[in-house]
Amino acid sequence: MSLKYPMVDLQGQYLKIKPEIDSAIQAVIDETSFIKGSAVNKFADNLSQYLDVKHVIPCGNGTDALHLALMALDLKPGDEIITTPFTFIATAEVISLLGLKPVFVDVYPDTFNINPDEIEKVITEKTRAIIPVHLFGQVADMKEIMKIAGKHNLYVVEDNAQALGAEVMCSDGKKYKAGTIGTIGCTSFFPSKNLGAFGDGGALFTQDDMLALKIQQLANHGMKVRYYHDYVGINSRLDSIQAAILNVKLKYLDQYAEARQKAAQFYDTAFKNNSRLKTPFVAPFSSHVYHQYTLVLKGVNRINLMEYLSKKGIASAVYYPVPLHLQNAYKNYGYKMGDFPQTEALSDHVISLPIHTEMTDEIQQEIADKVLEFVNNN
Ligand SMILES: *Cc1c(COP(=O)(O)O)cnc(C)c1O
Repeated sequence: MSLKYPMVDLQGQYLKIKPEIDSAIQAVIDETSFIKGSAVNKFADNLSQYLDVKHVIPCGNGTDALHLALMALDLKPGDEIITTPFTFIATAEVISLLGLKPVFVDVYPDTFNINPDEIEKVITEKTRAIIPVHLFGQVADMKEIMKIAGKHNLYVVEDNAQALGAEVMCSDGKKYKAGTIGTIGCTSFFPSKNLGAFGDGGALFTQDDMLALKIQQLANHGMKVRYYHDYVGINSRLDSIQAAILNVKLKYLDQYAEARQKAAQFYDTAFKNNSRLKTPFVAPFSSHVYHQYTLVLKGVNRINLMEYLSKKGIASAVYYPVPLHLQNAYKNYGYKMGDFPQTEALSDHVISLPIHTEMTDEIQQEIADKVLEFVNNN
C-alpha cells in the first residue's frame, strides 16, 4: 500500500528504536540459538511480570494460542463453546477445527464486545467454555462473564489478541490486565498488533500450574521428556529472533498504548459534535488501548467515504464486514441473517481510521478534516 497515511506505521516505530532492535537480533544470530534460545524464556518471564500472571507460554501465533488453549481443556467433540460473531475468524476457527461447536451470541452495540445477558440464554448441558474477545483494545465485561462461568462451571478463554496491556475492573474491586482473568488468556504478536513482532508470534497466559505444563507440552509435540509423547500435540514455537524483538518492544508497550490513547482522544474531539459519526464508547470498567479506532457511521455511505479517503491518500478499513455466523465456512451451523442484529448492523456501519504509535496532530487533523469534509457534503 502506497497511501500517504496507512493504517499502521511499523517503519516509523522501528526507526525510533532501531539500534536496540538491531543489536537484539544480532545477539540471537551470534548465539545461533534460533529455536528455544535464551531470549524466549527471558521474554516469557518479562511478559508474565508485566501482566502479573504466573505462567506465560509463548507459541507460533495467536491462532495457535487459541488452538492450544482449547486442546488443553478436557473437551470432547460436540461440546459447545460460546463466543462472539463480531471478531476475526481465528476465534471460532479453532473451535470448529477441534470438532467443537461454536455457539454465537450478539454483542453490545456500544463496546462491540460480547453481551453477557445473551450468554446465559444459550447455555445448555453441553456448554463447556466462553471465549470473550477484547475487541479493538477494550476488555469485555469480564466481571459478568466470570460470574456466569462460575455459576455454570465453564472455562473462560480470553482472546486478547487486540487488547494486550488493557486493564479491567473485576468483582473484587481490583484491576487486572486483560487476558489474566479467565482460565487461559491468548494473544498474538502479529506485526500490526499492539505488541508486534517482525513476523508471527503468540502466547498463552494462565495462573494454573497444571494447565501451564500441559500447554507447554501440547505446543511441543505433547512431550516433556524428549521423544516421549504424553499427548498428541502440535509444533508451535516463538522464534528466538521474534522473542528478542518483543523483549525490546515490551518495554515500550505502555508508552505505545498512551500514544494510541492520545490519538483516539484527538479523533474523539474532532468528531464529537457530528451526529453522523459515533465515536468509540469506553465502558467504565475497562481501559482502552485502541488497537483500532472504529467509528459507527449513521447515514453515511461507507464505500463512498472510503473511496474519498483513499483518493486523499488516507487508509481506512472495515473490521469486520461479514459476521462469522454469515460466513460461507459457517453455513452448516444453520445461522441466518437477522440472528444477531447488533453485530449485523455494526458490520454494515463501522469504519476504522488509521491509528498507531507514530500519529502526529498534523496527520490526524488532515484525516479528521477529510472525514468531516465528506460527511458534511454527502
Ligand atoms: C489477530 C487475531 C487473532 C489471530 O492471531 P494470529 O497471530 O494472526 O494468528 C485472533 N483473534 C483476534 C481477535 C485477532 O485480532
